[in-house]
Amino acid sequence: MDFEKQPHQCVLNTETLQFFSDFDSGNLLRAIKVGHNQYELLISADASNKGLNHYRIWFYFGIRGMKKGSYRFTIINASNFKLFASPLYKPVWRAIPGSVEWQRVMQTTCYTMNFPNSYRFSWNFDCNFPDNEVYFALAPPYSYEHLVKSLDLYESLCPWDCAFYREVITKSLDGRNVEIITISSKKNFSGEREEREVGLFQSSIHRSFKSLKPIVFISARVHPGETPSSYLLDTIIQLLISKDPRGVTLRSNFVFKIIPMLNPDGVSRGHFRVDQNGINLNRCYASPSMFDHPSIYAAKNYIEKIISSSLCFYLDLHAHGSKKSCFVYGNFIDMPRQAENELFSKLLEINSPYFDYMDCDFSEKSMTSKDPKDHHSKEGSGRVAFFRSLNLTFSYTIEAAFYIPKTLHPIPPMVNTKTGRRCSEVAVVEKFLVQVYNRLMFIDVGAAILSSILDVFSINPLSRLGATEYKNVEVLKEYIGNMVLTRKNPKLKKSLSRSELPKASSDKITENFRRSGRLNIMMNQSDRNNDVARNTVCRFRSSYKYSCRPKTIDLKYKTQKSIGEQRD
Ligand SMILES: [Zn+2]
Repeated sequence: MDFEKQPHQCVLNTETLQFFSDFDSGNLLRAIKVGHNQYELLISADASNKGLNHYRIWFYFGIRGMKKGSYRFTIINASNFKLFASPLYKPVWRAIPGSVEWQRVMQTTCYTMNFPNSYRFSWNFDCNFPDNEVYFALAPPYSYEHLVKSLDLYESLCPWDCAFYREVITKSLDGRNVEIITISSKKNFSGEREEREVGLFQSSIHRSFKSLKPIVFISARVHPGETPSSYLLDTIIQLLISKDPRGVTLRSNFVFKIIPMLNPDGVSRGHFRVDQNGINLNRCYASPSMFDHPSIYAAKNYIEKIISSSLCFYLDLHAHGSKKSCFVYGNFIDMPRQAENELFSKLLEINSPYFDYMDCDFSEKSMTSKDPKDHHSKEGSGRVAFFRSLNLTFSYTIEAAFYIPKTLHPIPPMVNTKTGRRCSEVAVVEKFLVQVYNRLMFIDVGAAILSSILDVFSINPLSRLGATEYKNVEVLKEYIGNMVLTRKNPKLKKSLSRSELPKASSDKITENFRRSGRLNIMMNQSDRNNDVARNTVCRFRSSYKYSCRPKTIDLKYKTQKSIGEQRD
């Protein structure tokens, strides 16, 4: 099927170079030579054909004809976006043929204001790949076509005892498939098919069989430019269909329902945050239109009318450029359920050095706040809508990071819960990260999401929880319950005993690192200065005792107002 051509997906000739963005997810509107190896670029705003002029953030284009030498590229009409403003943020590049993976631009960037809401974002690039095609993007791209190829591959790799069932739940406004994938052990289904809801599953292929097990629902890319969420989802699917004991246990105990791309038109058109009509689809869950927001209408009706009785987890994957780690947006619930609600995010921190519990937001405010641009409320987001309509505790937006400009925290070792043996693994201790693209981060956080689900239900065959001071999920839940209570009433802190409120000791973590000789890896300032951008990965077998992180009480529910701040 031919899709409508976008003006910003084109070929642009200058007197020396040919720029091109005529491909899925491409976005480059103009290229002008302004000096020797210097070019000014314009990108298209999301849904600009509707007269909307915001979110000039996503860019993705290629260049032909570059020679060995230094180049400077400047996007002269960028939006005010917090990510651009960080001197640590770098765009990604890739040469074809030449590079297998996307890499960070290593040279300096510059971000200055032209006039309100129009900014210049520049980067330098030393070309060592003459005559190749060199591509640049805001973040590692993950297009609609890439998704279709990935799903074909995963389907072909699926083991014989694993169900991997693909259905088109609806068509996008442009006519692209919005797929829903069912993954589980083949034993977890009844002989009866799921229903067909009005407007959903219009193809004549058989519907999935009904689940006999609890359902975990995962979606991604409602915001098209948040590509890290797709890489997270890749890891999740790879682990779910693998022989890893965690994948096998998850398949045996749950049925996974996954919509990997909720906004395929926005992705394909090279948008950052909205669909072709300028709509933020993650504000439409309260009452989506079958005709205007078909993917959201389909997801909502599928969840509420077909799988609601079995649904135990709702996870919507996003990415952000504002906080310093990965985190979740959760809902504000009365105690004692709030302890259970926050448990998942604390487990994510235990399972991943990239994830930070203290950055998570469970505030009442973040359930109702309005976007500064379109004033649509977060009550229309998936995680709030399903908490409200289904009273679902485990309902989250998971925010992966575009980059992490801080040192990672240590995590406890993974222990085989049957044998009690510690697993030998490559642990990640990265210093002063500039995580624009890092496959390790996507793999780690994706695995942590699944491990944390297993930990919530105490069925993780390779858990880190036993190596923490909490030992098991009940103690951890009690600890979080105490934290929530003291957060609401700080005076309570004094009346609680030490055992009721385990206190984090940053000294303990630091001392254990010092003893193991690893402190210098994390803290050496001269190394940090010399090599800010390089990631260091070291192999070690954890010998320190993990204790909870510092800052146990003063969870801040700040929401920043910067235009560049992206909300779930
Ligand atoms: Zn988002």
